[in-house]
Amino acid sequence: MEGHYEFIGRFEPVLRFAAPPVDAAWWFICDGARLLVNRQPDGSLSVPLVRQPAWLGLPLDQTPHPLGYLDGVPCYGLGADGGVSPADPNGQWMDLRRLFDRLPADLFLLAGRAIQIVAWDRTHRYCGHCGTALVFAENDRAKQCPACSLRQFPRLAPAVMAMVVRGSEVLLARGPEFPVGLFSILAGFVEPGETLEACVRREVYEEVGIFVGPMRYLGSQPWPFPHSLMIGFVCEYAGGDLQPDGVEIVEADWFDYRHLPAHPSAMSLAGKLLTHFVADCEQRFGSS
Ligand SMILES: [Zn+2]
Repeated sequence: MEGHYEFIGRFEPVLRFAAPPVDAAWWFICDGARLLVNRQPDGSLSVPLVRQPAWLGLPLDQTPHPLGYLDGVPCYGLGADGGVSPADPNGQWMDLRRLFDRLPADLFLLAGRAIQIVAWDRTHRYCGHCGTALVFAENDRAKQCPACSLRQFPRLAPAVMAMVVRGSEVLLARGPEFPVGLFSILAGFVEPGETLEACVRREVYEEVGIFVGPMRYLGSQPWPFPHSLMIGFVCEYAGGDLQPDGVEIVEADWFDYRHLPAHPSAMSLAGKLLTHFVADCEQRFGSS
């Protein structure tokens, strides 16, 4: 599938830098889903490229998280108090959702990574088993309890997107949180012990009463709101009548590829999957 949400430049992830960077580094300063960005002279947005985050004039968390090198430039994630405005008049806090297409793609991806790591660090300070303060593990992106050795890794919640297709039609649905008229692809979180394929079948059946046949993996997207990994499938309709569950889905219908309703942009995997669906149908059924 076109568009993989992968790096364009060369990114080399590291857990720590061999020596503290002497030149400027990319600093991904975040608070929840918000990121500190700065406006460039040409009006575009970027991320602070500075030697010391203290220069930003913000109350910062204690621990910077080395992320790796982007085209040789060190990258850090670091938490800060998003209620405080930066000293730099060109700096501002923005929600990461608003930065897709506004930040260079590589910086956007790294911002999502930083946001997830910082949120994990802030919410996993004590051992869930014995209550001792956790310390960072040596060789993994993990925290460890010095008393009972319990390990905590950054949280990742895999979720499937199931694009159900019937000929030239696609099944789209609306959850109660969506505005009327805006439809998307069915999605749901993977449960413990479940395969991705079983999750696709279960979610589609639970939410709209439809059975699906063969399915195919199309692509994935990190979704740091707050810690999901979206995994996209296309699957064929195999039976059943549309029956929205009324809780997670309040409206669902089949839509012809030439008449799709309002749907999410290509920032989200749902938008990318639908673009793929339309292109595939145009090839099979014609573009008029
Ligand atoms: Zn413990």
